[in-house]
This record gives sequence, structure tokens and C-alpha cells, in this order.
Amino acid sequence: MLKFGSNPNVYKCSFCGKLDNQVERLVAGPGGVYICDGCIKLCTEILDNDDNAEDLISAENLPKPKTICSILDQYVIGQAEAKKTLSVAVYNHYKRIGQPNNNKKEDVELQKSNILMIGPTGSGKTLLAQTLAKILNVPLAIVDANSLTEAGYVGEDVDDMLLALIQAANGDLARAERGIIYIDEIDKIARKPGMTRDISGEGVQQALLKVLEGSNVNVPVPGSHHQPMPAMVSFNTKNVLFICGGAFNDLDKIIEKRLHGSKMGFGAAQPTKSDKDISKLLREVMPDDLLNVGLIPELVGRLPIIVTLDELDEEALVSILTKPKNALIKQYKKLMKMDDAKLVFEDEALRLIAREAIQRNTGARGLRSILERIMRNVMFEIPSVGGSTVCTITKDDVLLNKEPIVKISKK
Ligand code: ADP
Repeated sequence: MLKFGSNPNVYKCSFCGKLDNQVERLVAGPGGVYICDGCIKLCTEILDNDDNAEDLISAENLPKPKTICSILDQYVIGQAEAKKTLSVAVYNHYKRIGQPNNNKKEDVELQKSNILMIGPTGSGKTLLAQTLAKILNVPLAIVDANSLTEAGYVGEDVDDMLLALIQAANGDLARAERGIIYIDEIDKIARKPGMTRDISGEGVQQALLKVLEGSNVNVPVPGSHHQPMPAMVSFNTKNVLFICGGAFNDLDKIIEKRLHGSKMGFGAAQPTKSDKDISKLLREVMPDDLLNVGLIPELVGRLPIIVTLDELDEEALVSILTKPKNALIKQYKKLMKMDDAKLVFEDEALRLIAREAIQRNTGARGLRSILERIMRNVMFEIPSVGGSTVCTITKDDVLLNKEPIVKISKK
């Protein structure tokens, strides 16, 4: 960097024309051109804005539904129907907001389509939302509906989730306004029958309506290092994609009653349904069934895309352990490799782990803690062994239901 100051009549900024003595710094380029500090700052700002514009998802850089689905396949096992529906839904959503002329009066107005995901605990609802946000490079905020309250009550205000999205977008409002909000456990804010004033249920559903539909909401953003003063930001939720998820435990019974009517009989002992039967019933869900489990009609109306997820069976859980990009077994193998140890799981051991997770009734969520229990001793011992080792986890190690003593044999 050069600073010229000797002859103010000779050196001037080639961009704004200011003389050397009118600026703080003047930097020389080849061929007798100069740029002042003010113009450098301006150029940096323009380039920064361009970077942000590239970050924003647009019609041109939007992946096609098939591409979205094939990336989902790398992370999420099973749930083929859900992946297909979600790929189309998010593609249409971002295509809609990427359209330049969708404000013209004569145009067909593409309506916003928020999504409702129905599926048991640990079947991949949150994982799907997270993976979609990653594929589309949009910020994601995950909110637990249990923590939401009507404005004025103690708890998290519905508007607070917009702040979470701004934070997920590192303060970039334009990115946040095209982000995804995943509201988990939406079934927990269902209307309770017989309650006239129900602060935890219907009131919250009412409060959600305006943000889900798309409106300007004033969000108080606390001060930060760069901007010490708290500020009020006007957040437009028109282009935010809302995905709501819930287990809706009794929904299958309600659907069954609608489908088979009085044939089912009231109070009569019902044969226990297999997970497959429940999944099949859930696929038949209609908006009216959701009203019967306590969602208000306006909320159901704002969630026009309904996706159902299946309970994961033994085979799916074994695949979850080994196949996805960040599969748990792959992670443990990588960890062990750092200590020069080769980790091998017997097939039967994997199946037993899956079976134990099914017994726990927490879907794939239980896999991690089961593996942690099995691996604790291994991870304790191996770093001290030194040299190359091979460690095999057998079915007996899993069956013992306590910290297994794993044989460590030198290669
Ligand atoms: P929920 O349906 O309760 O939201 P999550 O998506 O939070 O379930 O799943 C919990 C964990 O289980 C995830 O972190 C993920 O590792 C694993 N998991 C659940 N379902 C699947 C699936 N279908 N494929 C791969 N991993 C899954």
C-alpha cells in the first residue's frame, strides 16, 4: 500500500476524483490509477451485498425435487413417501418466492403451503427439516410448541421464534425471511375438550395463525457486539416455510373410526394393531381428523400439505446405524481409528441394538444411548492399549445389558 502526499495536484482517486489531501489514504494500482479509502470501503460493501444475494435461494439455484429427494436419501432412512412429498413441497415453496412477478394483479397467485408432519417420536421429523434446510442453504429455527404461550403469558411468545430464525441467519434479515421454522410437538397445543379458556392450547394456535399465513411482525432484537442498542425489526413471514411436526398418538383410532364407522363398535375390545397397520391408517388422514384431535380449523387450513412418517422397524434401525452419511457406527469407527483401532460390529449385535431401541419406544432416538453404553468401556480402554488394535462388538456384548468387557486383540 502506498500513500502519496507530496504533490496534491498530481495524485487523485481515479474513482471519485478526490485529491490526495482530501482523503485519508490513496492506494496506487498499475498504470497510474489510484483508489481512495472511501471508495475501497464502498466497494467492499457492494461486494458483501453481492455475497449475501448469492446466499439467497432463487429460482436459478433451486435444486429440483428429484435432487432434493436423493440428497435426503443420503441422510434419512426409509420414509420414502414423506421424502417425495417434502421434496415437491419445498421446491414449490421456494419456486414460488423466487418468482419475480408473483405480485402482478393479473397473475395467478401461488398460495403459501406450510407443512404438517405426522409421525412417531424418533422417526426422523426433525432430521428431515434439518436436512432440507441444509440442502437449500436456508436458516432453520427449531421451536418446541410446548414452550409457546399466548402473548402476555409467561413462556415463549410466538413471535420469539422469528428472533430465533434471525439468529440462525446470523442477523441477516433477508435470509431469515426465507428460512424454515420447524415447530415440534404441535399436537401438544391441541384444544382440550371441555375447556372454555385454554391458554396452553387454542390460544397458542390462534397466535400462530398470523405468522403462519404471512404478516409483518415487529421483533425486538437484543443488542449485539456490533450494534449495542436493542432494535425493533419488522419481519415479514410471507416467505418463511413453516413445518409443524407431531406424533398425534390417537389419530389412527380417529381415522379408523371414520373409515369403518360403527362397525368398529364402541367399547369393544380392539385387536392390537401392528405398526404397519397404524402407518397405513395415518396415510388416510383428512383435515377433519385433525380437528377431532384438537387442532382448530384455521390452523389446519394453513397447513395444507400433510406428510406421514412410518414407525421405524428393525431393518430400518439397523440401516440408520450403518448407512446414512453421518451414521452412528461410522462416527464411532472414525473415533476409534484416531486411536489406531479397527471397530467391527457383528450383524447380530446391530440387530440386537435395533431391537432394544424398539423396546424403548423412542424410535431411532434411543440408538445413541444404547451405543454409548456399549462403547463406554471400549472407548475407555483402547486409547491406553497403544499400537494397532481390532475390536469386535459381539451379540453377547449387547445382550449382557451392562458395560461389556470387549476383547481387544493386537493386530
Ligand atoms: P423426531 O421424529 O422425533 O423429530 P428426530 O428426527 O429428532 O425424530 O430423530 C432423532 C434421531 O434419530 C436423529 O438425530 C437421527 O439421528 C435419528 N433418526 C431418526 N429417524 C431417522 C431416519 N429415518 N433416518 C436416519 N436417522 C434417523
